[in-house]
Amino acid sequence: MTDAETLIRRVRAEELRLHELEDHADPETAATARRRLLAAETDTDLGAVGEYGFDIAEAEANVENAIGAAQVPMGVAGPVPINVGERSDAQGDTGSGGIGSDGGAATGQYYLPMATTEGALVASVNRGLSVIRAAGGATARVTKNGMTRAPAFRVDGVAEAAETVEWVERNSGALREAAESTTSHGELLGVEPYVVGDSIFLRFAYDTKDAMGMNMATIATEAACELLEAETPASLVALSGNLCSDKKPAAINAVEGRGRSVTADVVVPGELVADRLHTTPAAIAEANTRKNLVGSAKAASLGFNAHAANVVAATFLATGQDEAQVVEGANAITTMDVRESADGPDDLYASVSLASLEVGTVGGGTRLPTQSAALDVLGLRGGGDPPGANADALAEVIAVGALAGELSLLAALASNHLASAHAELGR
Ligand code: NAP
Repeated sequence: MTDAETLIRRVRAEELRLHELEDHADPETAATARRRLLAAETDTDLGAVGEYGFDIAEAEANVENAIGAAQVPMGVAGPVPINVGERSDAQGDTGSGGIGSDGGAATGQYYLPMATTEGALVASVNRGLSVIRAAGGATARVTKNGMTRAPAFRVDGVAEAAETVEWVERNSGALREAAESTTSHGELLGVEPYVVGDSIFLRFAYDTKDAMGMNMATIATEAACELLEAETPASLVALSGNLCSDKKPAAINAVEGRGRSVTADVVVPGELVADRLHTTPAAIAEANTRKNLVGSAKAASLGFNAHAANVVAATFLATGQDEAQVVEGANAITTMDVRESADGPDDLYASVSLASLEVGTVGGGTRLPTQSAALDVLGLRGGGDPPGANADALAEVIAVGALAGELSLLAALASNHLASAHAELGR
């Protein structure tokens, strides 16, 4: 094995390329050499990039040409009871995981780790969670689950396209067998065909259990495509044909869902709205209608929410999700309505529905030390019992976090103190 200075000398002598250093040294030495070379070439101080608290070898599957770590501050919001129904132990254990007493995957009290650089965000979500806590907790459910991969095929024309679609419909069992031969966890749920002239797209949907599942679904789909190409006139052009649709804003994800479709709601008593949010259910509902519904419609937005992306992004970074999937993860509709109360002021009904939240508690970035620690805080690291329960619960917790963020921001707008909240925090 070679030391960092020798690696640097050999790169400068053009005997080695930057990405080859791990072939000649351990990952730590390779990263150190690369960082020093980069610092010298760009006349930069990279000391902070080199100060990280984990073994860089553990990140080999997550990054190439490693030079260190980008460190994002992590805060925590909560706790908040989720799916505790009328249970008397609503203030019980935190992050208990497992199947909820009233049907959700998350149950009990959860602290929400959030990694962000946006001052006031954690405080805002924390305020929303404290109101939800005072209201007895939130309810959340995953209502649909399916990670998709949609390869693109070429055929001669419409007749061959129809022949291929018919074959797909008659051979779902064989396609499932081929796809599932590549994974011990994934299950093929269905294949939806789309024809455009001489192009065919097959949108494969999988239950990927506790994995976000993009690698799993891609590998499984490749095996199914081999069978399809052998049995039909279709030729595979691209394993991903963008109808999946991964990491691009797309209406198909908003309508059909991708990953987990998850909804969270809460009824906040009118007294709480007055005491803690300093406004009324009617004022919050009006702000939501005019801003999140009418304003978003006028903007032709895919997201009808105030800032769901903030909570999705911060929890994705904290728990090791694929951060580019915030694109579809933030695809959410927020509703706020006045609910009549029999014995007092009107209550506020608040909900947020995230159509395509792609999360996992195994694989990808979830293995990294700070990210798996954040999943430990939630009690949701690793495979669930039954498989898929942990990823379902994570989706539900994130949805409740997003609900808290929506509640807090909408209430701030309704009570007209958004600017002063930022000013108080010195920003
Ligand atoms: P992965 O780390 O590639 O694989 C996770 C594997 O964990 C599963 O395939 C499964 O193995 C195993 N596993 C163990 N316990 C499990 C459980 N309880 N539930 C489910 N699986 C379990 O992760 P992935 O989720 O498939 O893919 C995520 C990664 O893909 C991220 O790093 C992301 O950045 C990347 N990504 C890839 C693409 C692409 O096109 N390939 C696109 C976007 C993102 P078995 O399958 O053998 O059962």
